[in-house]
Amino acid sequence: MRAMVLNEPKRPLELRDVPKPKPGKGQLLVRVSACAVCRTDLHVVDGELPDPKLPLIPGHQIVGHVEEIGEENSKFAIGDRVGIPWLSWTDGDCAYCRSGRENLCDNGRFTGYTVDGGYAEFTVADARYCFHLPERYDDVEVAPLLCAGLIGYRSYRKTNDARRLGIYGFGNAAHLISQIALHEGRELFVFTRPGDTATQQAAKKLGAVWAGGSDELPPAKLDAAIIFASVGPLVPAALRALAKGGVVVCGGIHMTDIPSFPYVDLWEERVITSVANLTRGDGEEFFKIAPRVPVKIKTETFPLEDANTALDRFRAGKLKGSAVLTIGA
Ligand SMILES: [Zn+2]
Ligand SMILES: [Zn+2]
Repeated sequence: MRAMVLNEPKRPLELRDVPKPKPGKGQLLVRVSACAVCRTDLHVVDGELPDPKLPLIPGHQIVGHVEEIGEENSKFAIGDRVGIPWLSWTDGDCAYCRSGRENLCDNGRFTGYTVDGGYAEFTVADARYCFHLPERYDDVEVAPLLCAGLIGYRSYRKTNDARRLGIYGFGNAAHLISQIALHEGRELFVFTRPGDTATQQAAKKLGAVWAGGSDELPPAKLDAAIIFASVGPLVPAALRALAKGGVVVCGGIHMTDIPSFPYVDLWEERVITSVANLTRGDGEEFFKIAPRVPVKIKTETFPLEDANTALDRFRAGKLKGSAVLTIGA
């Protein structure tokens, strides 16, 4: 089968003919039709995350159809559409798994990072970690929901019942989560790169009450802020925008260093937290809510062999929507 392979970080992916994987016990063999590109893929390719499997097939927002089922019962049948997310496997047995926090599993495995992912014609996945996907969306549309949507949603849930919600970095995850926040009646304040008036206009068009540069303070104190940009200095900036007891949620897997800041900015029970990975529960919940809103998704498609172009355009901030690789017919 054809796959785009990372041989070593900081090098372009290579189009290769590799053996088709075989489904083990409890696994599905999935014919991939679409795989969305996540910022995390960039961090892996750019060598910003430690110890990826090498060589690696990246990609963890995978949509396809079940072609074969390894022995053992499964919640899927041959031909079913299936979504494969970042969380690939957990041990089910560590202190985190046993306390409902499988996203923090000591031995967790991750699709397109520590196991092969979906920049390929086929992939295998443990059926217990795969999702049935809402029928309202086609394969290309639904792919970005599998991470930008899902981990964005976990970040959003960590803001509790914040009435005034700030979002720093208005990319794919922010665009998806903003729609849910507005649907739930939150007031949305969007922060972009200073001077990026086009994105600020887009945020206002979507329904934000205010949009400005990340160097500005909002017109009202925020109850919570989510940072989707991988820019550490945004943490103290967001803290300064918070009301007492407010929370800053860092939604990315990688961020540049956070500069020091005066304690008074954290004082009065402000909180800084991060979001790591996802639980299967997050996915079940999100895929019920997304079609009800309904969350709309903007995509830009690339054929599998153009994965490097998609990554380059993502890195340069030149995409017009979530990049999705399309595979096969
Ligand atoms: Zn565990
Ligand atoms: Zn991701």
